[in-house]
Amino acid sequence: MTVSKDLVNGLNVARFQGQRHKTDNLKTEKICLPGTECLVKSHVSLASFTSFRVGGPAEWLVAPKHLNELEASFEWAINRDLPITLLGAGSNLLISDRGLSGLVICTRHLRYTYFDQETGQVTAAAGEPLVRLAWRAAELGWSGLEWAVGIPGSVGGSVVMNAGAHTGCMADILVNAHVLSPNGSLEILTPEKLGYNYRTSLLQGDKRLVTQATFQLKPGADPAKVIATTAQHLKQRHSTQPYNKPSCGSVFRNPNPHKAGWLIEQTGLKGYRIGGATVAERHANFILNCGGAKANDIFQLIHYVQHQVERHWSLSLQPEVKILGEFQPI
Ligand SMILES: Cc1cc2nc3c(=O)[nH]c(=O)nc-3n(C[C@H](O)[C@H](O)[C@H](O)COP(=O)(O)OP(=O)(O)OC[C@H]3O[C@@H](n4cnc5c(N)ncnc54)[C@H](O)[C@@H]3O)c2cc1C
Repeated sequence: MTVSKDLVNGLNVARFQGQRHKTDNLKTEKICLPGTECLVKSHVSLASFTSFRVGGPAEWLVAPKHLNELEASFEWAINRDLPITLLGAGSNLLISDRGLSGLVICTRHLRYTYFDQETGQVTAAAGEPLVRLAWRAAELGWSGLEWAVGIPGSVGGSVVMNAGAHTGCMADILVNAHVLSPNGSLEILTPEKLGYNYRTSLLQGDKRLVTQATFQLKPGADPAKVIATTAQHLKQRHSTQPYNKPSCGSVFRNPNPHKAGWLIEQTGLKGYRIGGATVAERHANFILNCGGAKANDIFQLIHYVQHQVERHWSLSLQPEVKILGEFQPI
């Protein structure tokens, strides 16, 4: 069985579960972060914060709107010695049914976008949806983000994941990312400092938070042409990938030179089901929540697929999805 790094981190989380159970029956508490109007809330279900639509409660959750609120969130968690989890759009996460201990910092309310006509650069806050940014750029006749239209992540999460599609990826267009450390220090990092590779960066598994990113695009194109290319990419994805049920997109990284989806399909796993989780018929590297799935169903299915592919091909598939929290042992 292959255990991802986040899963190993998840096992650390298990140490806190015993303590948290004592407070399970408590009502939601709301605490105002010192010096701000930002609320930290207890026992917030994370299912609606992930594209899989599964996951238990966050012990504490905060969704800051401004940098000072982010800084106060880090300080609040550090002062209480709480573990911190960073959450973007939750489109690449499998969160345990038992939830997460400590403070979850969600970036969904960090929003702004600025298109600089002189430089052709667009700066977007961490919580901006990548899809929205891609359409905005297309409507302005700025090319360079057409490939991103089917990726339902946030700008921050996509910088961290080095999200990509149709031969484009974040590493190709990133000028810099502003990164806030839990101790309050802010760095401006260029792609060279981020150790980019296929769907990886040095920021993965890190506690530093991307607050905003600047991308180099090409302004001055005919908006109709950029919109047409963007729409074409979306159409192609909808014809090859299942967008009608909750998922995290591709579950496994492609083990070069193979495609994970092809290996899973050839192993005969399309349609294989555990509880409410199924290997998609349309694209075997997708696992779908077909209604009422538990995070644990998805977790078990991930490991079943890994095991079967390893048996057939002697290849170990590595999850692209980040697995957080405590799961039942396989
Ligand atoms: C239908 C579907 C299709 C998809 N297609 C693609 C695709 O074509 N290509 C592709 O690359 N991905 C794809 N994905 C996966 C996913 O959308 C991307 O990985 C996306 O970039 C994740 O962004 P997010 O904001 O959802 O991150 P999350 O899932 O919230 O988090 C992912 C990781 O980044 C960390 N993180 C999030 N925000 C920040 C931040 N601001 N600072 C620091 N760390 C942060 C989290 O802690 C976590 O480790 C798809 C997903 C779905 C559901």
